[in-house]
Amino acid sequence: MKRYDKLYINGQWVTPHGSGYTQIINPATEAAFAEVANADLDDVNAAFAAARAAFPAWSRTTAAERAEWIRKLHAALDKRKDELALAISQSMGCPLEIAKIIQVNCVKAFEKFADRAFEMEKEVRVNNSLVVREAAGVCAFITPWNYPLYQLIGKVAPALATGCTMVIKPSSVTPLQDLIFAEAVAEIGLPAGVFNLITGRGGVLGDAMVTHPEVDVVSFTGSTATGKRIQKLAADSIKRVCLELGGKSPFIITEDAPLEKAVTFGVKDVMINSGQTCIALSRMLVPASRYEEAVQIAKRVAEGLKVGDPMDKDTYMGPMSSMGQRDTVLSYIQKGLDEGAKLVTGGLDYPAGISKGAYVKPTIFRDVNNKMAIAQEEIFGPVICMIPYSDINEAIAIANDSIYGLSSGVWAGTQEAAIAIARQLRTGGCYVNGGDFNYDAPLGGYKQSGNGREWGDFGIHEFYEIKSMQL
Ligand code: NAD
Repeated sequence: MKRYDKLYINGQWVTPHGSGYTQIINPATEAAFAEVANADLDDVNAAFAAARAAFPAWSRTTAAERAEWIRKLHAALDKRKDELALAISQSMGCPLEIAKIIQVNCVKAFEKFADRAFEMEKEVRVNNSLVVREAAGVCAFITPWNYPLYQLIGKVAPALATGCTMVIKPSSVTPLQDLIFAEAVAEIGLPAGVFNLITGRGGVLGDAMVTHPEVDVVSFTGSTATGKRIQKLAADSIKRVCLELGGKSPFIITEDAPLEKAVTFGVKDVMINSGQTCIALSRMLVPASRYEEAVQIAKRVAEGLKVGDPMDKDTYMGPMSSMGQRDTVLSYIQKGLDEGAKLVTGGLDYPAGISKGAYVKPTIFRDVNNKMAIAQEEIFGPVICMIPYSDINEAIAIANDSIYGLSSGVWAGTQEAAIAIARQLRTGGCYVNGGDFNYDAPLGGYKQSGNGREWGDFGIHEFYEIKSMQL
């Protein structure tokens, strides 16, 4: 078993002050295959002291200098993409070949932040004022386990581009890609203290990170419950808090949509990464007139997906990220049955031929009412709620009847018609007629799905302050 016994603080691999290790469990086998050191509060303090000490010099580097560091770091990461994919696949179960795409392609998007660094040098004259941008300061980053590298890069890249310094704490389920990332940081010799990595339990370290007096910006990706707690804790010192939280995204298929294509897209969208995608289109809204046909297509597509060993090239769906997450998903499937929804496929048993590991069958419920808990709460598993509607206004009302507003989808007869519906959805993103994910587009939520945006040109906005100098 590989042991990672150091933290990366102030440009060095240091022995933690904290004691003990957290085991990293492969959810396909239930066996531990690595362990990482547990930081404690002294380690948190050391990491933020390093980030604070590095801030004056780093924030005064030129955009060209920071762009050069980003390019070097990108090159160091690019060499290690296979290793990153394997680390993620082993620790959270995403099939390896799929992980190389959906988990690791974000490395490519990292380099774009080299160009975005130059945004910081834009100055505006407003009458007698000179308005400039300055790095927001020291950042605390807390990330989850479902797309752990994507979430890391979505925070680190803009912070580097703008001249911020940072302390990162990954989910204790998936710290390995962050450790590889820190090795790349060490390899290129990024100035000490700009990037600091601590590992350990969020429940233990989280409060200290988000209340720390040296922190200017907290950027958190994770559940809405933890996000609410973080926002309250950070309020006492008026820190800037950026939250990327949960979702329960609707997918409206219209009467004149190509049903086979649309339903296939919807089912595959949810089942990839075992349903553990914050923007998964987990509520499928179908016109009542085409409901039976849509249910049959969804059943056929879901039953055709190969569930199994993440190392097998043909596997579409691996296990859930942990046995705990499996329990959560199964409890929601039971809740759906108790609420009167009907199973089209899937359910509580292990998939055929599997008797251990965190596996759940691709599951589809029909006759779901949007008021049911399975339609309102984020399950974060391979579960689709198929909801019938009678007209498009009702579909839009159902879609917006959610505490969440992260993503959505519309598939209509024409792109124009789909966009007209998309404009009426209170969500931060919308997938129109099967559109592809775009790393250069901003990602973030309305309502309780969070605030702020990550990625793309908008992704740096959270990381700078604006100063007006009256001349
Ligand atoms: P989580 O909230 O349990 O944990 C996220 C991170 O917070 C982990 O690093 C964890 O260690 C840490 N943490 C736990 N308790 C903490 C505390 N009290 N203080 C500070 N940090 C604490 O979420 P999760 O289960 O790891 O991730 C799944 C959730 O993330 C889902 O709700 C999903 O929708 C959401 N998510 C959102 C986005 C987005 O961009 N909106 C992206 C991915 C995931």
